[in-house]
Amino acid sequence: MYQPVFGMQAPPTFNSFPGYEGLLPGVSGGFHPPPPSQPFPTPVPMVQQDWSIPKLSEESVREAFISFASSQCCYSSGPARDGMITGIEQFNTYRYRLETFTESRKTEWTTKPYEGQTVNPFAQPPPGPWEMPVMAPVMFKDNRQELEIPNSQSVKSCDTCSATGRSRCAKCTGTGSITCFTCSGRGVGSAQDRCAPCSGTGRRMCSNCSGQGTKECTKCKGKRQLLSYIKLTVEWKNNVEDFVVEQSSGLNVTKLGEVSGKPLFKDTQPMVYPLTGFPHPGLVEAANKMVLKHRNNFSQTGRILQQQQSVELIPITKVAYQWKGKHYFYFVYGTESKVNAEDYPAKCCCVIL
Ligand SMILES: [Zn+2]
Ligand SMILES: [Zn+2]
Ligand SMILES: [Zn+2]
Repeated sequence: MYQPVFGMQAPPTFNSFPGYEGLLPGVSGGFHPPPPSQPFPTPVPMVQQDWSIPKLSEESVREAFISFASSQCCYSSGPARDGMITGIEQFNTYRYRLETFTESRKTEWTTKPYEGQTVNPFAQPPPGPWEMPVMAPVMFKDNRQELEIPNSQSVKSCDTCSATGRSRCAKCTGTGSITCFTCSGRGVGSAQDRCAPCSGTGRRMCSNCSGQGTKECTKCKGKRQLLSYIKLTVEWKNNVEDFVVEQSSGLNVTKLGEVSGKPLFKDTQPMVYPLTGFPHPGLVEAANKMVLKHRNNFSQTGRILQQQQSVELIPITKVAYQWKGKHYFYFVYGTESKVNAEDYPAKCCCVIL
């Protein structure tokens, strides 16, 4: 039954808070650009070092190949064990990686069941989205936090249940009973006798509402009132982008995403300065473009907290071998010595491609 609720405060008008103008209920996510506060990046000189990787020996490429073959479902290890290696060639390549760690803040009007807490709407203007203190994030790790903006709260009656705390059961449409599924509501059993489960009434008690016809309102959890407030969602995201220098080994470049390389350079700053002094002009050009792109894109949608750039040398070795008079090849790549052998000669039929 409907009961009037007393002591309710008028909700604040939706666009009355400074910094939250135009934030409408039911419209998802007011996004807030951060105030400008980008520190000026400083260049980090690249130290010359030994950038070569020793060529893999015949034993080590064979060892990697044998462990690859034995890890595959029903590959015969014969070719890996006994194939005759005829050539070992290096196609090492560079990978530039830029990580931009950002924080963005979104607000929206929302409600939750009112638990009786003290609420003073309009007592003070609520703090702006970027004035809200938030937890210190772990750098370069995705995370999110939801917060209630102080002084944005007000209490209103639940519109879903008309402040009764209960809502009509959807299963029995409020009647408390449903049609008997044994007799399809006829009240008669298969032997033309009285249907036992429903005692011949043709209806059974609704189990969803225990025959009451109503259930606790899911929106206010039976509290009859809702706390209306501005929810702030803070999102931390690590945006990672790679550039890999092209190489002619024939190994698909997407394979390199699975492995790591020998670290040559790493630079972590609030904002990185484009690479200087790296001996590969194509990589430097791509890196500089990427730094500018990240700076433009990610300072529009949030605040850049940290950036990290790195250059790795990824070892790629192409091994040619003979097996039963035919020629094949495979790749050993990454510091993990991962193997790729598309034309492996002794796969059996159950191999999942
Ligand atoms: Zn029945
Ligand atoms: Zn029901
Ligand atoms: Zn309700």
